[in-house]
Amino acid sequence: MKGFNRYRGRFAPSPTGPLHFGSLVAALGSCLEARAQGGEWLVRMEDVDEPRCSPDVAAAMLRTLERLGFEWDGAVMVQSARKPHYRELLERLKQAGLAYPCGCTRRELADSAIAHDGAAIYPGTCRSGLPPGKAARSWRLRVDDASVTFEDAIQGTIRQQLGRDVGDFVLLRADGYFAYQLAVVADDADQGITHVVRGADLLDSTPRQIHLQRCLGLPTPAYAHLPVALNAQGEKLSKQTLAAAVDAMPAERTLLAALRFLGQAPPQDLGGKASIWAWALANWRLDEVPRERTLGLPAGM
Ligand code: GLU
Repeated sequence: MKGFNRYRGRFAPSPTGPLHFGSLVAALGSCLEARAQGGEWLVRMEDVDEPRCSPDVAAAMLRTLERLGFEWDGAVMVQSARKPHYRELLERLKQAGLAYPCGCTRRELADSAIAHDGAAIYPGTCRSGLPPGKAARSWRLRVDDASVTFEDAIQGTIRQQLGRDVGDFVLLRADGYFAYQLAVVADDADQGITHVVRGADLLDSTPRQIHLQRCLGLPTPAYAHLPVALNAQGEKLSKQTLAAAVDAMPAERTLLAALRFLGQAPPQDLGGKASIWAWALANWRLDEVPRERTLGLPAGM
C-alpha cells in the first residue's frame, strides 16, 4: 500500500539538456524538504516529449545528481515507458465525456488569445464535434467553467478559471505523444507523491493538474513552487538559452549557490560536499525560500 501519511516528494526533470542551475535548485529544494519532513524523495525522468529528450541526456543528468551528492529512493520512473498508463487515463476521460477529439491545426489557432504559458487559449471550435471534413489530430479536455484555487506553500493562494485562463487543453498531442499535463498527473498519483516542490514556471500548470486529478478521482498533492532562476537577459535557464551545465562547475560551489538562492544561509567555511549536505539537511527551512516567482541567477552560475 502507498504510504498515505508518509511524505513522498520527487524531482522530475525533462532530459532535454544537461542539468543547469535552474534544475539543480528544483532538485535541491524538493530533496531537502522531503528529507526535512522525514520523507522519501524520488526521481522521475519526464521524457514524455520524446522528440526533445534523449536517454543519454537522462543518464548524464543522473550521474550529475550523484556527483553532487543526491541520493534518491527507489528506481527512476521513466515516462516514455508509461504510455499504456496514460492511454488508460485518456480512455477514462473519453468515457466520462470529458475528452474530445480536436482537428484544429496550430495555424488555425494562431489568432486565439494566448495563455500565461504561451499556448493558445482554445476557442472551442471542435468542442461539440469535429466540423465536417476535419479529422481528429489531438484530444482535449473539456474544462467548462471549472475554477481551481489552491494554497501554495511558498507562493500563497493561486486561483485560475480554466475556461477563461487556459481553455480546453491538450491531453494527446497531434504528433501522437501524450501531453505533459496528463503524464505528470498519472505519475504523481501512481508514485504516491504527497508533496510537489518544483519551479514556479509550473505554477500556471498546477490548476490544470489539480483539475485533471479531480476529473480522474485522484488525490491532490500539496504544492510549493520555488523561485525560478533567470539569466541576465531575464530568460529562464534552458538548453535554448544556453544555460551553463552544472557539471562544468565544482560541486561545492554549485550546492552553496543553490542553497543561498533558496534563501538558506550556509556558512562560508563548510568545506567539502559531505559537510555541505550535512549542514543543509540539518538546517533547511522552506519558510526562508523567497516568495518570488523569479530571481536573478547568482554571479558565476
Ligand atoms: N519535467 C518538468 C520540467 O522539467 C517538471 C515537471 C514537474 O516537476 O512537475 O520542467
